Amino acid sequence: MEGWIRVGLGEDAALSKGGPAPGPGSLEIPGPPAGYARGGALAHAAPALRGAVARAAESALELLSPTRCCGCERLGPLVCDRCLGELTLIDPAHACLRCGAPYGDIVCTECAGGGAADEPRAGGADDAAIARCLAMATYEGPLPRIVRAYKDAGERRLARLLAEMLLDCALHAELAAPERYGGILSTADAVCFVPATAAAFRRRGFDHMEQVARPLAEMAGVPLDDVLLKHGARDQRAYGRAGRRAAAQGLYEVVHGLEGMRVLLVDDVVTTGATMGAAAGALRRAGAARVDALALARVWGG
Ligand SMILES: [Zn+2]
Ligand SMILES: [Zn+2]
Repeated sequence: MEGWIRVGLGEDAALSKGGPAPGPGSLEIPGPPAGYARGGALAHAAPALRGAVARAAESALELLSPTRCCGCERLGPLVCDRCLGELTLIDPAHACLRCGAPYGDIVCTECAGGGAADEPRAGGADDAAIARCLAMATYEGPLPRIVRAYKDAGERRLARLLAEMLLDCALHAELAAPERYGGILSTADAVCFVPATAAAFRRRGFDHMEQVARPLAEMAGVPLDDVLLKHGARDQRAYGRAGRRAAAQGLYEVVHGLEGMRVLLVDDVVTTGATMGAAAGALRRAGAARVDALALARVWGG
């Protein structure tokens, strides 16, 4: 269970510089399901001139402030091969279907109610709204640094790399565990994302998951549906575990109906599952026939 994340290989990989086309060696998963044009959306992306201007600007920026790995600070690509290799990938054949935790097989101990009595379970009222949850890796090693570099340090070039990670994760799960995660992306009618709070949006200047979900949807050939709205509220990280669940309840609404649609909901980090559950609940109430969840990371252990 290692090595299937193949994004960002080598210093010249387009991903490391935000260029238009993935180079050879990137994104290699044998035999993707029919219907996926991997990299196809990128192959004819930017007109030559725009590409040249962008490259010149990037070169100038690169001289002033050379790219360092967001995981380990080494000079080189945005995320180096070593840090990619240190991701603790979750095996989709043994993940908890309900929350994406590793070693769940069917449902993990938290979802099965094995947690401390005074803490809400990862499962809860709205968790039934999520048909299947898939997370790429546990939230440890270089991954927290990479996520923080993107969300808090403004390294927006990571958006595309994170999208490719999610794509690789979903395609791998569809191939490696078809009886569990089959069609999670390839049969989705829409990709949705958990929207940022208004405060987070103001602070960062961008909706971090929208910027990841958009290229993911493009690469997968699935429409992006920016359907969820989030009301106010403080940054979720400011809450404790129980408060987080309460805060997440009822914070989402949708801007149009989703009758009969199969939706893939993406977010960055699953902690208790409260956020994903609340967003998925709103999607289901809007008529979605199925809501699956896909995340970069699942907080597990510790
Ligand atoms: Zn690194
Ligand atoms: Zn679980």
